[in-house]
Order: sequence, then C-alpha cells, then structure tokens
Amino acid sequence: MASSDIIQLLPDSIANQIAAGEVVQRPASVVKELLENAIDAGATQIQVILKEAGRTLIQVIDNGSGMSETDARMCFERHATSKIRKSEDLFSIRTMGFRGEALASIAAVAQVELRTRREEDETGIQIKIEASEIKTHEAVACVTGTSLSVKNLFFNVPARRNFLKSNAVEMRHVLDEFQRIALANPEVSLSLHHNDTEVFNLGGGKLVRRIIDIYGKSYREQLAFCQEDTSYISVRGYIGKPEFARKTRGEQFFFVNNRFIKHSYMHHAVISAFDGSIAEGSHPFYVLFIEIDPSHIDINIHPTKTEIKFDDEKSVYAIIMAAVKKAVGVYNLSQSIDFEE
Ligand code: ADP
Ligand code: MG
Repeated sequence: MASSDIIQLLPDSIANQIAAGEVVQRPASVVKELLENAIDAGATQIQVILKEAGRTLIQVIDNGSGMSETDARMCFERHATSKIRKSEDLFSIRTMGFRGEALASIAAVAQVELRTRREEDETGIQIKIEASEIKTHEAVACVTGTSLSVKNLFFNVPARRNFLKSNAVEMRHVLDEFQRIALANPEVSLSLHHNDTEVFNLGGGKLVRRIIDIYGKSYREQLAFCQEDTSYISVRGYIGKPEFARKTRGEQFFFVNNRFIKHSYMHHAVISAFDGSIAEGSHPFYVLFIEIDPSHIDINIHPTKTEIKFDDEKSVYAIIMAAVKKAVGVYNLSQSIDFEE
C-alpha cells in the first residue's frame, strides 16, 4: 500500500452499527424483527416481554424450530440468512425476513442474549453478545424454540438513545407493530407483557376472533366479509361498515402475502369503493389480505419493507375496488332484506 492510499474496509462492528441505523430506529423495530423471525421459524406460540417501553428489555420467546449451535453463532453475522440461497430466490420470497441484517444490526447496538434449542438436540445453546462482540457461549438446558433478549437498546449510541420519545410514544409504536403481526397471523397465540402487566393475551384462531380480541366485541357487527379472486391476485378480509367509520386513522391494514404494507394508492381504491357513503374526513376500518405471485412484486424498496411495488398497479387497484364495492353492496342488500322482514 502506497503511503498516499487512504481507503480502508470498515470493520464489521462499525458496518453493523451503520446498518442498524436503517433497521433499528426504536424498540418497535426490534419487536417487529424478532416477531417476524419467530413467525418464520414456524412458532405457534410467541411471548413478548418489555420493560420501559422496550428501552431496557425486549424479550421474545417462541416455540419455533430453534437453531443449531453453529447457526446460533452465525445468525449474528451480517448477511447471514437461511431464507435466501440464490438470486432467483429474491423473486419467490414467502418469508418475512430475507436480508439477514436484523440480528446483526440489533446486536451492534444492544446487549443481546440468545437461548435456543432444536427439538432433536439434547442441549440448547446460550450466547451473549454486546456491540457485535460475542461475550459468552455455552451449552444450556432449555425448551425447544428460541428466546432472544435485547437489553439496553442503543447503550453504545447515546445520540440515538436520546432521540427516543417518551415511553408512551414508544409503546404506541410497539403496539402498532404487535397488532399488525397479530392480525396477519391469527392462528398464532401471542402475548405481550409490559412492566409485568399483561397488555395482550391472544389465543390462536380465525381472523374475526383476532380482530375482536384486539379491538373489542363491538367490532363483531361492524365487519363485512370481503373476497375477490382473479388469476392475478386474490383479495380477502374484512371491511368496517360505512357508518362505523372514524375520524381518527390507524385501523386500515393491507397485507401483501402476509406482510403489512402502506400503500396510499390502494387505500384510495378502498375509499373510492365506498362511493360517498362515508362522511368526509372519516376512515373505514379494513383488514385486507392480498395474495399475489411473489414474482409480480418487489419488496426490496426499503429495509423495513413496508413499501412494495406491484408490476401492474392499475389491476390491483381495480380488483381491490371491486372487492370492497361488492362487500359494501352485499351488506346494503342484506340490510334492506332484514328491514323488510
Ligand atoms: P433474516 O430474517 O432476514 O434471515 P435475521 O438477522 O433476522 O435475518 O436472522 C438471521 C437468521 O437467524 C434467520 O435467517 C434464521 O435462520 C435464524 N433465526 C433468527 N431468529 C430465529 C428464531 N426465532 N428461530 C429460529 N431461527 C431464527
Ligand atoms: Mg429476520
């Protein structure tokens, strides 16, 4: 190397810390990533335990596949994933994760403790890692599945720690992520504890039950079933009847192949379908699941993956609108029949 050369490769710990800036904004981002990993591992029961809105502790315990000893060490490496092997896989993604960045990023900015065991292994493994550095690594007795504790988030990045909002605001973000994942996976039992108080304890079941368990029994009579199938996409879910529309937003959900997304164009399709039956400035409840061949979408736009691109947006718009129109129409019809009886 000539003395005038100045470029160097970043050490992994710094590269991870930079990547963490995109993946881990706040406790809610950690909750999302850990819940998605548990879902991808096939868990049917997941517990989330938080202290101080996740500032001091975020623990996610699942009964999924668990990891082998080598994988348990590997999972904290950057670009380490079991979900993608070749570039074509990028066009058939069915898992929530695939970048192999979440655990590396989280472990770069927190004190992390992993315990995991596969069904077929005699003992489990426990790893403690802090600011990307493995501190301890030992065999332990534990149940099948994975427990990941994230302590003192941003302990080594004071600027980011100071940037966090009040516990109430951080908790709001956590609840948003938790509820999205709960809606997308109604068959999975999910609980959430905050400072030793039980916030949610959701039994596995059908989507209607999950909606009612989250939002309350009064939602039962609000919901109209919605379904439309074409060769390009299928749409399925529930919409809130127009008269239940609220002034505040926050109960509008699109899931594409079970991934929560934000899409203002598709939101517009739903609103247009109500065709003036909702008061100006009010928003209807909806939970809509869109199933589409993964080769027709691009979910690589942003690391947190809440935005996606469809190859034929106009068709998606038209099909969603038709689905909602039908649901609103059927409901109006059955209403008038009820009335005549
Ligand atoms: P990604 O989910 O994008 O693959 P992550 O950094 O979130 O990347 O996780 C890395 C890998 O660690 C995963 O691909 C998976 O093989 C393994 N892993 C992470 N969490 C769990 C878990 N709860 N149960 C089993 N395996 C897990
Ligand atoms: Mg992941």
